[in-house]
Amino acid sequence: MTRKLFVTTALPYANAPFHLGHIMEYIQADIWVRHQRMSGNEVHFVGADDAHGAPIMIAAEKAGITPQEFVAQIAAGRKQYLDGFHIQFDNWHSTDGPENHALSQDIYRKLKAAGFITSKTIEQFFDPVKNMFLPDRYIKGECPKCGAKDQYGDSCEVCSAVYAPTEVINPYSVLTGATPVMKSSEHFFFKLSDQQCVDFLRGWALQDNRLQSEVANKCREWLDGEGEGSGLGDWDISRDAPYFGIEIPDQPGKYFYVWLDAPVGYLASLKNYFDKTGRNFDAFMADPTTEQIHFIGKDITYFHTLFWPAMLKFSGYKVPDNVYAHGFVTVSGEKMSKSRGTGISPLRYLEIGMNPEWLRYYFAAKLNAKVEDLDLNPDDFVARVNSDLIGKYINIASRAAGFISKRFNGVINTTWATSDDAFLSNLRTAAPEIQALFEAREYGKALRAAMEQADLVNAYVDANKPWELAKKPENDAKLQEVCSRLLEAFRILTIFLKPVLPQLATQVEAQLNLAPLQWADVTSPMPDQHQIHPYTHLMQRVDLKIFDQLFDAPTASEAAPTTTETSSQIEPLAEEIKIDDFAKVDLRIAKIVNCEHVEGSDKLLRLTLDIGEGRTRNVFSGIKSAYQPEQLIGKFTVMVANLAPRKMKFGMSEGMVLAASAADEKTNPGLYILEAWPGAQPGMRVR
Ligand SMILES: [Zn+2]
Repeated sequence: MTRKLFVTTALPYANAPFHLGHIMEYIQADIWVRHQRMSGNEVHFVGADDAHGAPIMIAAEKAGITPQEFVAQIAAGRKQYLDGFHIQFDNWHSTDGPENHALSQDIYRKLKAAGFITSKTIEQFFDPVKNMFLPDRYIKGECPKCGAKDQYGDSCEVCSAVYAPTEVINPYSVLTGATPVMKSSEHFFFKLSDQQCVDFLRGWALQDNRLQSEVANKCREWLDGEGEGSGLGDWDISRDAPYFGIEIPDQPGKYFYVWLDAPVGYLASLKNYFDKTGRNFDAFMADPTTEQIHFIGKDITYFHTLFWPAMLKFSGYKVPDNVYAHGFVTVSGEKMSKSRGTGISPLRYLEIGMNPEWLRYYFAAKLNAKVEDLDLNPDDFVARVNSDLIGKYINIASRAAGFISKRFNGVINTTWATSDDAFLSNLRTAAPEIQALFEAREYGKALRAAMEQADLVNAYVDANKPWELAKKPENDAKLQEVCSRLLEAFRILTIFLKPVLPQLATQVEAQLNLAPLQWADVTSPMPDQHQIHPYTHLMQRVDLKIFDQLFDAPTASEAAPTTTETSSQIEPLAEEIKIDDFAKVDLRIAKIVNCEHVEGSDKLLRLTLDIGEGRTRNVFSGIKSAYQPEQLIGKFTVMVANLAPRKMKFGMSEGMVLAASAADEKTNPGLYILEAWPGAQPGMRVR
């Protein structure tokens, strides 16, 4: 029976390019999806950018653009990664799309009607300069336990204490440096503590092998609760304006917390895709045979195994069938870190010419169904690619196809074939087990099983030595038989590896002159007199030395930092330049003769700058989050004076002022304009 599958990966936060962890997750899901397609199942595989929330709002403000523009810039960079690693989503959308606004609001309305939404006035720190409530991470101060300075509002990095932001001594806003004040606000909560939720989740999470056992155990702990205040607490789903997100119906100035609408983005992307392709979203989701499957990282299981299914259940939507969590990628046993030289940029991997299918094969060889971290070790990588993939699999084709092309006009001969041909029928009978291993996401075991078959094929090569047979014309019939048999074996092995190596499989299909291979084709041998195309080399070996280039430096096109694993590091340095390159940038001391708010923009300040030209320049700068206009008037700063003028919504911007910011906007969103020492005069060149 054909299965109907709706498959997603976690939605990446749209403030940074993909890192290797994203690529690993997408490859894991992509392999599973390709396996399903080869099985003849109907699969819809979608992704989207997670666009909302304070970090993106603030990053966009800093860049002087709208959050929509900011997200669009990040989204525009996604395709090169996905195409580059042969990750074949049917659709890529954004949680800021209209479908997500409609679906999130619909889910909320239904939850509210069913009595699962409550409200409560809470006290929270408020930045009086920026006029916004501050998330815990945007408050810093002295640790109430050990007194360490500059600690976050929720925890201390020095003594590891965890506390409420109200306990922080001398708190200040990371955004403006202002002392936050307590202010009350009405917040909306999803009643996760409701007994109906708890009962439902207990059934959902702990039955039907829906979750991996480690994840199910974790859910049990969360549901049972440990110690006091056991069980689930209600979930704060609202945030106050200004916030980049989806408005809560009938509650002006209130927005959904980004984690409410982010997973709804799965449905929104599917709906967007179905609408574009003339399919019926409602009918598909209402069909009880539709299976909804999410691949996620282990760090977000709480959201996906508690909030998400409960939200869907009590708003009358379909609940997920499975949530599959994976571990993190480590490099040579360590967390990825650019400063330690163990960070791997996926784009750089592609740019230096490493084959994306090497990585797909390597990841697959290391992946299993458990929630385990996966280590990328260069020596191991080289061994698996060169010894297994090339040495055991590719070599079969290179040994057999040349003879068929050169000696037999590319014609396969199968007159030798019998139904009890042990060599090939053993190979065919391995298929169901390998298929089942892909189904169970035990890719490492699937590849081991495939390589065991490849070993048997290579043993056949060694026993029959086609290169020896080729020396004597009287052996031609035998040579054609041996090579035909080997190519049939190679065809079957290609089916086994196709979910992992889709590009290579396409090349093989072209060379062997075959329609796209499916699992069912295992039992349909190439017919007698089948004509193949001349052999061309299928895949290069990997050279260990190339890893020096990989670890060398991040790519220039990845200027934005990854935020998940580099919180304590500086932004990676840009590519080295010559002094001539630097000289192209004309930096001048500028006097800020005037500074004012820009009507209609909550990001920009309008600066009037004097660099001694006998006229002033108008420059828009996205620094409103950090400064009041009166703080800047009369100051001397540094501007890029030869930047092409840029037409903006509010007028022409004739240059750019320089400001410092941390690599990690999420944890350190501060912004600091440069100021010249006394004595510097407007127009002096900075060199
Ligand atoms: Zn401390």
